[in-house]
Amino acid sequence: MRIITDERCTGYSHPGHPERSERIIATWERLRSQTELPITWSEPSPCDDAAILRAHDPEHLARLTRLEDFDEDTPAYPNLADYARASVAAALDALKAARAGETAFSLMRPPGHHATRNRAMGFCYLNNVAIAALEALATGAKRVAVFDFDVHHGNGTESILLNKPDCAFFSIHQFPCYPGTGTRNRGDNCFNFPVLPQIARGEYLHVLSSALEQLESFKPGLVAVSAGFDSYARDPLAQGSLEAEDFYWLGQSLRSLGVPLFSVLEGGYSADLPELILAYFKGVEGK
Ligand SMILES: [Zn+2]
Repeated sequence: MRIITDERCTGYSHPGHPERSERIIATWERLRSQTELPITWSEPSPCDDAAILRAHDPEHLARLTRLEDFDEDTPAYPNLADYARASVAAALDALKAARAGETAFSLMRPPGHHATRNRAMGFCYLNNVAIAALEALATGAKRVAVFDFDVHHGNGTESILLNKPDCAFFSIHQFPCYPGTGTRNRGDNCFNFPVLPQIARGEYLHVLSSALEQLESFKPGLVAVSAGFDSYARDPLAQGSLEAEDFYWLGQSLRSLGVPLFSVLEGGYSADLPELILAYFKGVEGK
C-alpha cells in the first residue's frame, strides 16, 4: 500500500470544526505503529493547474486565494490554495501509483467530493477525485468508475462528471442528510443509492453490494474511490450503521474487481477513524 500524505495538510485549522488536523495525525500514528501491512510513504508531487482546470473554472481557483469564508462549513484560510492543491496532487499521485500496479491511498485534507466546478462547500474546495478521474480519461484510461462510500452524497463529483463519456459515478449515501441531493440517478452515468438514517446495518451492506454490482457491470478499467468513513455507526456527523469490518469488506470487494484502484480520503469524524482506515487498507491489500 502506498500512502501519499504530507505534513502540510495539518497546517490549517478552524476552532471547533470537525474536519480537523487530528484526523490525519492520529491516522499517521496508528499506521506507523502497526506491523501487519507494509506501507510505502510518499509526499505529493507538485501539481499542474491544467489538471485542476478540467474540473474547475479559473475563477474558482482564483477565489481560493481570497480570505473570505465560502459558507459556514467551509472557511477561508491563509494559503488555502496551496493546501487544496497539495490534496489534488496526492490524488493524482495515487492515480499514477495505481497505474503502475500499486494500491494507493491519498491521506490528505481538505477532502473534495462536495466541491463543484465553481463552488467550495461542505469542507471541500477542489474536487480531488473528479480531477483525478478526468486526468485518467485525458491520459488514456478507457473506462473510469468513481465509487463514493462517504455517508454524504458526492454532489460535486456528480456535477463535474455528469454525462462525461467513458466515466461513471456511484454514490451510496444517507438521505435525508447534507447536502440534500442524490435521491435519484442523473444523466447517463451518475448512479445514486440513498439510504435512510439509522438504516439496519445489513440493509446498508445490501445497498453497497448493489452499487458494487452496478459498478462491475460498467466494466471499468480503473476505479477511483471517494473513501469517506462517516458512514460508521458512531460517527458524530450522520446516522450510518457501518462497523470497522464493513470497511474491510468494502476494501476487499473493491480489490476483487481486479482492476487498478486508488482511494482518496473524504469524510470520517469519529475518534475511531484510524482503525476504520486500517481496516479498509487490510481489505484492499487482501490481508
Ligand atoms: Zn461525508
